[in-house]
Amino acid sequence: MNRERTIKAILKLKHLNPKLDKLDEDDLKNLPNEQLKNMLLELGKKEEENLETGIDWDHVMKKLEEAEPYEDVSNPGIKVKSVFLGTVFSLLPSGKYYTFWACSNLESCPLCEGEGCEFCGNLGSREAYLDQIFWEKLEAEAEEHNCTVTNSDFDPCDILVEMIV
Ligand SMILES: [Zn+2]
Repeated sequence: MNRERTIKAILKLKHLNPKLDKLDEDDLKNLPNEQLKNMLLELGKKEEENLETGIDWDHVMKKLEEAEPYEDVSNPGIKVKSVFLGTVFSLLPSGKYYTFWACSNLESCPLCEGEGCEFCGNLGSREAYLDQIFWEKLEAEAEEHNCTVTNSDFDPCDILVEMIV
């Protein structure tokens, strides 16, 4: 565990728990590792619960209605409509583009420093874990609207909502 980065992460999230909000950096520096770890795990869970996609689905569906159908590049014969939702930089909590084989631009988890733990969903990076939760929520919301979410065939940084017509 990296104490300094764990304390930083707690300071960033402590507003999520009114009881912890009064603690300052010096208070935290006096606490044992185990307590800091539990504190961060608890705050992390709150952050995950509060994570929202922020997508205005009424607006997206209206734009989809107006969109022109075209043939799906990867599924010939199938017609789809799509709407640009945003880029990974604007939508994802991390605001970063990476692939699982090239993710050196991600910050490692302060608790396990990349080994894998609860706080990072065993991904070794809290950023990657929050992005994963975001994707899951986004996909579930899209499904509720009979749509799917995909990366654009032309630019993988672009995220589209797609509907078969
Ligand atoms: Zn971890």
